[in-house]
Amino acid sequence: DDEELIEEAGEGEAAYDDGPKPVGVLAVVGRPNVGKSTLVNRILGRRAAVVEDTPGVTRDRVSYDAEWAGTDFKLVDTGGWEADVEGIDSAIASQAEIAVHLADAVILVVDGTVGLTASDSRIVSMLRSSGKPVTVAVNKIDTAEQEYITAEFWKLGLGEPMGISAMHGRGVGDLLDVALDKLRSAEKTSGLLAPSSLRRVALIGRPNVGKSSLLNQLAHEERSVVDDYAGTTRDPVDEVVRLGGQDWLFIDTAGIKRRLHKLSGAEYYSSLRTQAAIERAELALVLFDVSQPISDQDLKVMSQAVDAGRAIVLVFNKWDLQDEFSRKRLERLWETEFTRVRWAQRVNLSAKTGWHTNRLPEAMETALASWDKRISTGKLNSFLGQLQSAHPHPLRGGKQPRILFATQAGTRPPRFVIFATGFLDHGYRRFIERSLREEFGFEGSPIQISVKVRE
Ligand code: GDP
Ligand code: GDP
Repeated sequence: DDEELIEEAGEGEAAYDDGPKPVGVLAVVGRPNVGKSTLVNRILGRRAAVVEDTPGVTRDRVSYDAEWAGTDFKLVDTGGWEADVEGIDSAIASQAEIAVHLADAVILVVDGTVGLTASDSRIVSMLRSSGKPVTVAVNKIDTAEQEYITAEFWKLGLGEPMGISAMHGRGVGDLLDVALDKLRSAEKTSGLLAPSSLRRVALIGRPNVGKSSLLNQLAHEERSVVDDYAGTTRDPVDEVVRLGGQDWLFIDTAGIKRRLHKLSGAEYYSSLRTQAAIERAELALVLFDVSQPISDQDLKVMSQAVDAGRAIVLVFNKWDLQDEFSRKRLERLWETEFTRVRWAQRVNLSAKTGWHTNRLPEAMETALASWDKRISTGKLNSFLGQLQSAHPHPLRGGKQPRILFATQAGTRPPRFVIFATGFLDHGYRRFIERSLREEFGFEGSPIQISVKVRE
């Protein structure tokens, strides 16, 4: 009956906790081929490994929810990060730096069969200056006879090196016990968990769309005087900007200002940083440069935010450069490339002159209100009941799947679970989504709908 279905859908207080409560963020770093991916996959279990570990494909995810012996934590994985980066040594150091920046504690993986290398030492000095607690994992110690090798790594000066075999699982439990102990007592400064009483915003878009110009314009319009928020661990790379009478936390503004795209391997890092910023943010301002054709990279950045389930506002920048030609081009593209985000608000502005930047706060507030919105089970079911009587699912092989019951299982973004007597066609799901949006709003927020089949 309904009660049971509600329970199964995860309705009730617990469903609104937003899942596990991680004790902190743990990063796994080390140079290529030491076995970071193997270790991460072992920690996460087979599930993640199979899906994500396609050779040659860069993993876009930055962090994963992990659990060990009843402790929930976030795991930052750098194993998939080295794909196609040139200038490998400095690249390794910078990627480890990003990981460490996001984390509260670190596992440094070294290769026991190779011994210490110059790359290892570079990472170690970076780790040391970060001041975050480190546990050294000496990997590829596949047998007890090889255990003596680990002693060599005492000289890193990072405490007791722990011999493991990520491949066979040997020693991994002990390693996690120690690393999680350090994580629990570590100061929680991680970018990924930092609690905040402010709404968190990421400015994203490919290089040169005008992110730093917009940030400067916004910060200069009304500079925040409030520097200290109770309960807010503020990352030095974040910035408080006052807009529309409200303070907002802009995430990873250093990444925007530093113009990483000028460095080598840079497109890659800027994409990594974008992903990290999206993960920390609640809302993404996705910037486009209307004086240029919209590129695949533009659309990819937008998809990253949508796929991560963030509230979004589309910002069409450099409107001062707009002419008849580019206006037509943009309208055409709007009809083709932007169909998947028709629900998002679009603000045309000029970061340079400040024209229409005052329209941003309202769009941002609307998007976040949608993101937080919750529809009661009663309202939802009476609406879907009417919808279904007016527009039943098309017949399929003489049968007609029927919706039995639905409930909103979560927010941020809104997630709905529909119980039906059969699988619902893609087209019918889209129809439901459109109708939910027409009825309840959700402007600026993705919504997720899953269907569970019942007899
Ligand atoms: P990453 O580049 O640091 O992510 O390293 P990978 O996880 O991709 O591993 C690099 C290579 O080391 C792969 O061929 C793995 O199969 C191998 N490897 C990883 N862990 C172990 C281990 O515990 N023992 C042995 N013998 N090989 C391992
Ligand atoms: P970012 O790489 O996304 O941070 O882009 P920037 O903010 O550095 O801007 C790239 C270039 O576009 C700079 O030369 C800016 O002056 C220019 N720019 C940014 N916004 C506007 C705008 O609204 N109008 C015009 N005409 N130029 C702009």
